[in-house]
Amino acid sequence: MPALATTHSLNDYLKLPISRYREQLKQGNAKSIEVSYTHRSKPYQYSIQLTKTSCNYGNYRHWWLCPKCSKRVSVLYCAGSYVCRHCIGANYGSQLQQPIDRLFSRLHNIRQRLGWQAGITHGTGERPKGMHYRTYNRLVNEHEQLTAKVWQASLDKLGCTR
Ligand SMILES: [Zn+2]
Repeated sequence: MPALATTHSLNDYLKLPISRYREQLKQGNAKSIEVSYTHRSKPYQYSIQLTKTSCNYGNYRHWWLCPKCSKRVSVLYCAGSYVCRHCIGANYGSQLQQPIDRLFSRLHNIRQRLGWQAGITHGTGERPKGMHYRTYNRLVNEHEQLTAKVWQASLDKLGCTR
């Protein structure tokens, strides 16, 4: 598949993660956050709506509601006003890839970190120097799961049934 030319990447944009307001959000029951900043010498001041979902132990996790499309997101990007990554229209790196390609590139990434040869078979079984045991185990586990997924995806592609 030919790579599509990308004009922008999300890294080009100023980020506003909801986690930045974690402390503030702990305090009360905020339904929105007021932001005020200057972008390309134009001043902006407005409120961004929030939503929350419950997670463990009666806690809540807060999310932005994208001011443009109302999608629930954890990070907004500055395009003058803040919008979600869908609205900003930037490439999200691997977004254009087929799912199986994405699995492969993740696999490749893990193999590189583990110092393994390219391919799909298992590596040396040795932990790279300086890598924490926990990181190593996590990567090896993820590698195993990904390998299984890749096989399954290949079978699906060939029209085989599970
Ligand atoms: Zn949006």
